[in-house]
Amino acid sequence: MRTGKRVSLRLLSLLMAVCLCLGAFWMSAPSTAEPVRADETSDLQQRNQELETQRQQAQQQIDQLQQQIDQQQAVQDDLQSQIDAVQQQVTLYQEQIDGLDVQIQEQNDRIDSLNMQLEQSQQRREEVENLFHDRMLALYLEGNTSTLELLLGAKSYADFLTRSQYVDSLAASDQAMLDELLQLENQINADMAEVEATRSSLEANQAQVQSLKAEQDAKIAELDTLQSQSESAEAQLQSSQDSLLSDVEQYQAEIDANNAQIEEIARANSSKVDNSTIQPDNGTYLWPCASHTISSGYGYRWGSMHRGIDISAPAGTPIYASRSGVVVVSMMGYSGSGFGGYGNVIMIQHDDGTYTMYAHCQSRYVSVGETVEQGQVIAGVGSTGNSTGNHLHFEIRMGVSSSTTVNPMNYF
Ligand SMILES: [Zn+2]
Repeated sequence: MRTGKRVSLRLLSLLMAVCLCLGAFWMSAPSTAEPVRADETSDLQQRNQELETQRQQAQQQIDQLQQQIDQQQAVQDDLQSQIDAVQQQVTLYQEQIDGLDVQIQEQNDRIDSLNMQLEQSQQRREEVENLFHDRMLALYLEGNTSTLELLLGAKSYADFLTRSQYVDSLAASDQAMLDELLQLENQINADMAEVEATRSSLEANQAQVQSLKAEQDAKIAELDTLQSQSESAEAQLQSSQDSLLSDVEQYQAEIDANNAQIEEIARANSSKVDNSTIQPDNGTYLWPCASHTISSGYGYRWGSMHRGIDISAPAGTPIYASRSGVVVVSMMGYSGSGFGGYGNVIMIQHDDGTYTMYAHCQSRYVSVGETVEQGQVIAGVGSTGNSTGNHLHFEIRMGVSSSTTVNPMNYF
């Protein structure tokens, strides 16, 4: 019973081992189809690089347009302050014109009042003259009879004198009144001439101020024209900028969509390749560089994970493919690509589903889709991307994702 049970357990574990082997076989089987997916990924990455270039070009144009817009706004601000200054001058002139209007109106009122006085005086003079003439005429007409009778009818000499004096004094008082009225009229006419002179001088002043104001009005019109020209130029720049901004949004949307697809492919790949089952043989990886100086090892440093080893070497030192495989990434890494900061970066997919990555290269000699042999020179050491000196950053990954890195030092 005991042995039988042990045998069946052995059998079971053997079966399980076979199953695992089959499973590993089936799991690694899709890797033959993976270069297609890698091609797809690299196509997307290449498309993203193009889009990124277009996006950067559009952004540059947007920045240039922004400078031009800022210039136009500065021009408009300058014009506006000129318009404000001239407008202030115009306002002052208008105040002067209004003040002169009031003074001219005062003079006009005085002229009206003097005219009225003159008319009144003339009327009175006419009345006095008419009365005098009537009386004289009456005296004259009656002169032959009544005046003589009046005089002859005097009862005494005194009476005669009184009567003749009456006639004379009447004439004298009328004459005095006429003289007085004439004098008044002369005075009024003299005043009127003075007032009219004042008025024309005020009107001349006003005309002068009005012509000064007209000059400034013309200047404002000129500045307004320049202002609206600048505004329409700005509007044009703005609409160009808006259209570029929407282009940038479209590029970015496409980049994001591509990245999502790249991630999806990467996830699909990493789920296909069960990392835990991959047991890369020690010794199958070749040291990837002519230099053997390790400037930084694998693991946590300064609070963050260093996912590879840094091999320092002079610029241009050959970098070798650590194993044979297919180049799945050969690009200048950019933010959002999954390789931002890595500079010129190459990633090779190997038959067993592992990857090796070579970063900060000065130059890349292989392109995506190319099959490379172990030891083939694929790049030269450099300091591109987020790097402070010439070195090769080398990673071994159990899958496509950066979270699957292992310490390369265990695999040489
Ligand atoms: Zn590094």
